[in-house]
Amino acid sequence: MDSQVFREAATATIEEIITYFDTLAARDVVSSVQPGYLRTLLPTEVPQDGEPWSAIHADMDTKILPGITHWTHPNFHAFFPCATSYPSLLGELYSGALSGACFNWVCSPAVTELETIVLDWLAKALGLPDCFLSTGPTRGGGVIHGSASEGVLTAMVAARERFLRGKVPGWEGEYAGEDAEVEEVVMRARAGMVALGTGMTHSSARKAARVLGVRFRAIPVRAEDGYALTREGLAAALAECRAQGLQPFFLVATLGTTDVCSVDDFAGISAALEADPDGERVWVHVDAAYAGAALVCPEVQASTRIALAARFHSFTVNMHKWLLTNFDASCFFVRDREWLVRALGVSQAVYGNAASDGGLVTDYREWQIPLGRRFRSLKIWFVLRTYGIKGLQEYVRRGMRMGVRVAEALRARSDLFEIVAGPIFALTVFRAAGERGGAALTLEERNALTREVYEKVNATGKIWLTSTELDGRFAIRLMTAVRTTQEDHVDRAMKTIVEVAERVMKG
Ligand code: PLP
Repeated sequence: MDSQVFREAATATIEEIITYFDTLAARDVVSSVQPGYLRTLLPTEVPQDGEPWSAIHADMDTKILPGITHWTHPNFHAFFPCATSYPSLLGELYSGALSGACFNWVCSPAVTELETIVLDWLAKALGLPDCFLSTGPTRGGGVIHGSASEGVLTAMVAARERFLRGKVPGWEGEYAGEDAEVEEVVMRARAGMVALGTGMTHSSARKAARVLGVRFRAIPVRAEDGYALTREGLAAALAECRAQGLQPFFLVATLGTTDVCSVDDFAGISAALEADPDGERVWVHVDAAYAGAALVCPEVQASTRIALAARFHSFTVNMHKWLLTNFDASCFFVRDREWLVRALGVSQAVYGNAASDGGLVTDYREWQIPLGRRFRSLKIWFVLRTYGIKGLQEYVRRGMRMGVRVAEALRARSDLFEIVAGPIFALTVFRAAGERGGAALTLEERNALTREVYEKVNATGKIWLTSTELDGRFAIRLMTAVRTTQEDHVDRAMKTIVEVAERVMKG
């Protein structure tokens, strides 16, 4: 493809993308293709001769788009959003053009330096404590990871290193060529290490523990506590671990759990750790993958008491969920960057250079699991500048207002629905009401009715909802944080849900 063909193709593609967004509401949200549909449409081999763009482009409409579920559709109410915006797309375009595997500062100084700057901007915009700033008192800072799953794994690796260094005096963290006795002590200590989360913690924490070969314990949380981890719950789990000879070294505290958007009790967590004999050595990672975005609003900073995170060790928020930035843009903050470098700063001669060796610069390869990295800060910079704090606040507040609108519509039909959680952070979780025709329903009957409403609403193709299960109760999640969603989309969605529920419940 030469530059002239690229110019024409790219210009037409941009026009097409604009039309796609402008007409998105008219499409069905969810793709209706059957598994394996694409194999029947595409050849089995790479073509021998290169094809013209016109032929490739034609396949987008006929073969790819039918298999796309539209995450930016105004009636995408499933999971959490996966953001996009025009400034972010422009950032992606430049990033693709300025291609590089910018693992060290020297690979492209602007890539590293812009990342440090925009993550400091973001930390301040979210009201995070100073310890997470690169210029803060604890030598903290931020790095862009590909996902929150990568963030929790990174935090857990660093936490394990920090914990073991304290346990094995003089141990410098390298295993190769280590004194066999020391290695034995380290490996034995590893066997008793346990990472803690709750029954609501995202599965990525369990996966990280599995990757690292450490135990994971999920602390039960209760509906009466809003599904949040409490001081008592954590204290009991710590005591139980210690009684079993296990060593808790890591805790995930969540701000906005995936199922119900509950927020763990930061003050209670701090108090439980302070009261524990070895609590100071438990690394607390705050998973704010989705709801952390709402911290752009001062009222959310106050209600979540985010200032208390000054006691914790790391924090993740995905700008690619609720902050208008394309996937991937998972922002990870640490209170002492040295912990990451110690755990992940594995040297290799080929990566040495004067700036790195002189200790003058940040080399982000030492803050993450992969080596290579994309220029992701550019799209974040474009988004933050285009929207400004006020624009981001307005967008996040609109999503939350629409959550309240959903809850009002559900409450207005208490003969059909019961709210199980929310509205909080633009998420409302609900199920079928407890009675039908004046008779009380069993748990199984309510679950079956809720599932029937859920499946029939999704079968319309016009709305996409997801479900969850809470203490054996099947429930429907409805999220209203997609950029394109407006009040009338929510009202139409609620009308459909009510109509379906009337047919199911009354029929
Ligand atoms: N944490 C929470 C609370 C989530 O809701 C999710 C995904 O939705 C994740 C972590 C995992 O995010 P990622 O896809 O970035 O790994």
